[in-house]
Amino acid sequence: MSKSAQTPVMRQYLAAKAGHPDALLFFRMGDFYELFFEDAVVAARALDLTLTARNKGATDEVPMAGVPHHAASGYVQKLLEQGFKVAICEQMADPSTVKGIVPREVVRVVTPGIAYDDAGLDARRNHFLVAVDRELPGPFGIAALDVSTGELTACEAADVASVVSELVRLDPREVLVGPGAGEVAEPLEEACAKAVVRTVSEPLDAVGAEAILGGQLGVGEAAASCPSEPARRAAARCVAAARASEAGRPVPVARLVSYALGDTLILDDATQAHLELVRAVDGSERGSLLAQIDATTTAAGARLLRRRLLAPLTTVAEVRRRQDAVELFVTQPGMRAELRERMVDVGDVERLAVKLALDRAAPRDLGALRRSLAALPGLVDTLERCPDRSARDALGLEDDQPWLDECNDLFDLLSRAVADDPPARASDGGVIRDGFDRDLDEARDLMRGGQRLIVDLETRLRESSGIPSLKLRFTRVFGWYIEVTKSHVVKAPAEWRRKQTISSGERFTCDALDEVADKLAHAEERAASREADLFAETVRDLARHVQRLRSLAACLAAWDVAAALGEVAHRDDWSRPVIDESLELVLEDARHPVVEKLSAGGRFVPNDVTLGAGEGRPRLWLVTGPNMAGKSTLMRQTAIAVILAQMGSYIPARSGRIGVVDRVLTRVGASDNLSRGESTFMVEMKETANVLRRATTRSLVVLDEIGRGTSTYDGLAIAWAVAEHLHDTVACRAMFATHYHELTELATTRAPTCETWSVSAREHDGDIVFLHKLQRGAASRSYGIACARLAGVPEPVLARARVLLGELEQGTAARNLDPPPRSGSKAARPQLGLFEAAANRIASHPAIDALRAVDVDRLTPLEALGLVASLQKMANRT
Ligand code: ADP
Ligand code: MG
Repeated sequence: MSKSAQTPVMRQYLAAKAGHPDALLFFRMGDFYELFFEDAVVAARALDLTLTARNKGATDEVPMAGVPHHAASGYVQKLLEQGFKVAICEQMADPSTVKGIVPREVVRVVTPGIAYDDAGLDARRNHFLVAVDRELPGPFGIAALDVSTGELTACEAADVASVVSELVRLDPREVLVGPGAGEVAEPLEEACAKAVVRTVSEPLDAVGAEAILGGQLGVGEAAASCPSEPARRAAARCVAAARASEAGRPVPVARLVSYALGDTLILDDATQAHLELVRAVDGSERGSLLAQIDATTTAAGARLLRRRLLAPLTTVAEVRRRQDAVELFVTQPGMRAELRERMVDVGDVERLAVKLALDRAAPRDLGALRRSLAALPGLVDTLERCPDRSARDALGLEDDQPWLDECNDLFDLLSRAVADDPPARASDGGVIRDGFDRDLDEARDLMRGGQRLIVDLETRLRESSGIPSLKLRFTRVFGWYIEVTKSHVVKAPAEWRRKQTISSGERFTCDALDEVADKLAHAEERAASREADLFAETVRDLARHVQRLRSLAACLAAWDVAAALGEVAHRDDWSRPVIDESLELVLEDARHPVVEKLSAGGRFVPNDVTLGAGEGRPRLWLVTGPNMAGKSTLMRQTAIAVILAQMGSYIPARSGRIGVVDRVLTRVGASDNLSRGESTFMVEMKETANVLRRATTRSLVVLDEIGRGTSTYDGLAIAWAVAEHLHDTVACRAMFATHYHELTELATTRAPTCETWSVSAREHDGDIVFLHKLQRGAASRSYGIACARLAGVPEPVLARARVLLGELEQGTAARNLDPPPRSGSKAARPQLGLFEAAANRIASHPAIDALRAVDVDRLTPLEALGLVASLQKMANRT
């Protein structure tokens, strides 16, 4: 567009857009937000809007798309979900009061990671903006900010893999990758599918970071609470982004909480996915472990439970403290039920507190806060009446510490100030209760008086004019008027002034009406303005107590989680495990909490597990058994029991003793790892390498069919070497499921610290029956043919396979297939010999030669059919 063709509005638009080149600019024009140029094209596609043009047909045609302002938040939400950033440019004055062009300003930049509005928030989980930064060659800094709860946390990570696992745990909506940390961008895009990953190029040094954090938290505060420089730098990026999102608004962060990755049980991204902790294989939440154990009644409780599940503890004393709280609710079912029932009235006090602090609270939020506070005495009463005097200990209270801060003063203020059923918006009126403020009461009296005056005037006018159907009416555009129907218009007194003619009659006004209307308008205005002031004042008064409300919210969330875990433990018959510093892992009658509920149809077979990294204890279990026997389930339930135990929960087992684990590492062999859609052998090996490098003596390693993604020899060799290394060098508690029976030899040479177990099955009339019961020793056979039958492989093929198997097992197949001389190695390595022999035996045959010569990639289906026919002919000839 040429400069000369720019209208003042377009110039204004271009200036606003220049400040936010990376955002879609919503430009307010009257009742619409308009988008222009490339933004219009992009938004039209993303939101399915009609693309039109400004100055259509002219040479300076500008693409344009718009959304009605009242529906904007829905559209913005959709754009955020697709990863866009949106800048909102508002009209800064009422167009009717401005001469010339209306001033406009960008008042808000909305990005996926920063959400204040309920519409964009999931109540039951945190909504994180995460920043990762680094100064080479130092460690990475990671910071996470949830502006809806005011939490800002930061930590340090040594390498890319640790960054990825931590971010998978945080599950952010948006990630800012600083210039020093560019290498994490790609792995993060892959691992955090829900997040928008942005690389930011502006450098930020230590001084700049301190300037940002000092301004937010107080000078030097950040360094005092978080010793890591890169972590602070990442935190500063988060705060800066939140500030930029809304110039002039405070960011609701009062402190920076630093943590070390080693403080909690480390669950890397593959483990989180494989164990389906918060999301099932198909990506849904249903079917995840979290869905199974989330019996919380409040949103803040749900968020806390999720956080605890993904960051279990490693300190015995702390785990026991949490277990005590859960136990209280398990042993007191009446109290648990009552508390949970009363909790239903508790709203999201944590997010309400932030809304108050940011002056974003709506009248309804005050109603919700009041309802929450009203529930507190009942909750306290429930706990107080608990017959077991140790309830206070169980919930970690000091001797004469109150159960919680009931915030009576705030409840009192809310009760006096806020009407019973406050409206959604302050401008709707009726927010403040009658009797709270003399001024407001007076204004309201005048309003009501004014309405009475109208009624009186109407009666008087009817009588004086002799028009019985006369009515006084009001519209926003015309104000008050006298309505007279056609047949009576002649009776209208001369002093009435005509306002408007309509088809059914005339509209008039008169001095008396103007006077009353004026009084009424004045009273209404006065009431509205007084009410707005009072509402703002109430919010300000409450906002002074935000820290108290936050502590209250934290306390309620912790009770909610303890009661919920108590409920689950009782409902599903779980037990309290013993947690200690040992290296044991003993589970009696353990179950998989999700499989048991969702797919075993009430017939889940429990199993025992005994591992111990101490001298003479079996630390490595080789688990064998046919497909579908339950190997994966067994190993997963073991890892899940450890995670549940260390988050402070009961576990799905009759009893358990668990020496604290520092990290749980699980890997699934490539061909078994369909869920992640990356079944390449390379990924499998990378992950295996990761496990071997990261595991310590205190870790729990679960390897599921590693080595499957390559040829038999390769696979076996790798599986063997990995198992050996785990056993000999890492010496941690480990389970290794394998279909390589050869591997069980390891148990013989490494007894008693390595044991073979099998998940049993029986063959009955050629059908396989899975018993899912663990037995000592290797599986006697692999039941492959029975499995094939179960899967519907045609009977002639099965019959042939049975014959071949028998021959192979007796070594007679060799004769039938024109064998070369038997290799001498068979006696030394019987199992390998089998493969070898098979490979050599079929070395030369016309059909085989023909088969080898085929280029499968170029074969059409028709040619393939012909080929099969000719192969069969050749086979029959010999
Ligand atoms: P594998 O890894 O040996 O192939 P899985 O662990 O995947 O077998 O289990 C296959 C199916 O068998 C599971 O989906 C589950 O429905 C069922 N299953 C597994 N373990 C048990 C058990 N202990 N009791 C009952 N059903 C089980
Ligand atoms: Mg399996």
